[in-house]
Amino acid sequence: MLHLKLLKKSSALSNCKFLVRSTSSVTKPKYDYDLVVLGGGSGGLACAKEAVEYGARVLCLDYVKPTPVGTTWGIGGTCVNVGCIPKKLMHQACLLGEAVHEAVAYGWNVNAQNIKPDWKKLIKSVQNHIKSVNWVTRVDLRDKKVEYVNSMGSFVDAHTIDYKTKQGERRQLTAEHVVVAVGGRPRYPSIPGATQFGITSDDIFSYEKEPGRTLVVGAGYVGLECACFLKGLGYEPTVMVRSIVLRGFDRQMSELVAAMMSERGIRFVDTSIPTAVERMPNGCLLVKHLNTATEQEGSDVYDTVLWAIGRKGLIDDLNLQAAGVATKNDKIVVDHTEATNVPHIYAVGDIIYGRPELTPVAILSGRLLARRLFAGSTQLMDYTDVATTVFTPLEYACVGMSEEMAIESRGAENIEVFHGYYKPTEFFIPQKSVRHCYLKAVAEVTGDQKILGLHYLGPVAGEVIQGFAAALKSGLTVKTLLNTVGIHPTTAEEFTRLSITKRSGRDPTPASCCS
Ligand code: FAD
Ligand code: NDP
Repeated sequence: MLHLKLLKKSSALSNCKFLVRSTSSVTKPKYDYDLVVLGGGSGGLACAKEAVEYGARVLCLDYVKPTPVGTTWGIGGTCVNVGCIPKKLMHQACLLGEAVHEAVAYGWNVNAQNIKPDWKKLIKSVQNHIKSVNWVTRVDLRDKKVEYVNSMGSFVDAHTIDYKTKQGERRQLTAEHVVVAVGGRPRYPSIPGATQFGITSDDIFSYEKEPGRTLVVGAGYVGLECACFLKGLGYEPTVMVRSIVLRGFDRQMSELVAAMMSERGIRFVDTSIPTAVERMPNGCLLVKHLNTATEQEGSDVYDTVLWAIGRKGLIDDLNLQAAGVATKNDKIVVDHTEATNVPHIYAVGDIIYGRPELTPVAILSGRLLARRLFAGSTQLMDYTDVATTVFTPLEYACVGMSEEMAIESRGAENIEVFHGYYKPTEFFIPQKSVRHCYLKAVAEVTGDQKILGLHYLGPVAGEVIQGFAAALKSGLTVKTLLNTVGIHPTTAEEFTRLSITKRSGRDPTPASCCS
């Protein structure tokens, strides 16, 4: 009996033929599944859910190894459980705390002197939200007919995956295509006491104990964001910086972020690395450290140590050598089609070598891959000009090139940088500091001045830059930008008012808000 499955015709597939897949209930398919996805995070789930839309038989394996202090979580991967989502909720908790103080200046009768967040209540609310997302995700997989197994998968050979059932039995299944989307986990430094006494971002969002005085080691996205929400919630974070803050970002903007954090009372320990962590008799943690510039050793006492020193790709449990998949450092090497060196094995998301570690990148690359595998699409993932935001209290968002990148690739004489400080209207009444509200556009110097990069430090930067990212991808020029009528009074409109170039040497500080 021939069974015909009509498959979804997506608008994204307008170039493809309408797909009709035929399967026979008599002929046994060569493989158990058309696609097995290893990893149920942002990239894996997006790929699995898209593939079933086109009739593929899909199974997704997801498994979370507990952290050294025993934290574990459900389906959905890093973003949902220990990344973007809980981080954004903590960020919001801090913004609300600030808003209460501002409300007083706006005439609200609030006794803002004694407001104090309830850490345990906040953690409970955050975890409740995460659990609801875990639940919805499982229901969604069931409804869409993606088979889900909560188990660690590893290769037996290039088409065979081994896993353990709930009952503890080992099983094997075969797949025509395999997508590896296992993501990464935080690194720990190789120093005494690191895993025994330190925690990471994998633990902080469900940490029952109030963190108190916290040493945050690392000055990348995770380190700065965690330090900021801890400060906003009333704790005393210190950031230990090995070299520079926010490596890879525009230097001027990164320094402004650090200055904004310092102004808010966050302490930075520069050019230093920890060398040991010990538990003191009173329960506090003694952190020994070395200043690599002066070679001076020192020690400080903290309640919590949080490692934010980058992430390691989870290749160790995959037995990739059995499938012959090539790796570099702890990541998987892929080509422009996300294919590994083994033609039917692919990788998406954080596990890919040399690509941005961001949720929307993982999701879109997973989706596009599924469309290419099962719907005849030829559309490739474009990894250029990916917008991103560092969720510090004044957020820093950017898209495109940093000033340094533009100068390096085009030459300083071919670059024009438009810039300006600005004063958000809503900052005036509560007398909030506007010292670090700054934005710039890095552009070509000739013609209509194609914009190469946009950078913004200020309120809701992520919301502001998201729209400009689409414009930049569409070839935005300074001419178009300055010909765009702003929405007043917003901070995003400042991009339409950028008239001062760095080359002119004119003062980029505004005299008033509306001229
Ligand atoms: P993951 O989401 O990590 O999913 C991989 C899954 O596979 C995990 O569940 C893992 O346990 C599982 N797994 C591993 N090995 C196996 C195996 N052998 N078998 C089965 N399952 C396995 N990105 C943003 O865009 N915006 C943000 O604001 C943001 N904030 C972040 C904040 C923090 C604190 C962190 C740590 C990250 C943040 N990120 C953010 C990055 C984002 O979370 C990741 O880029 C994204 O989750 C990567 O998705 P993925 O599918 O590649 O991997
Ligand atoms: P990063 O690689 O961005 O930063 C790691 C930091 O740790 C750097 O400051 C690095 O210093 C420092 N470091 C590394 N090793 C050591 C060591 N042994 N001792 C002391 N310091 C050390 O990693 P993150 O964990 O912050 O972030 C990982 C990824 O997660 C990001 O690249 C991002 O893609 C994603 N993410 C995205 C977010 C967002 O979109 N808002 C938020 C959080 C994470 P040095 O510069 O000297 O190497």
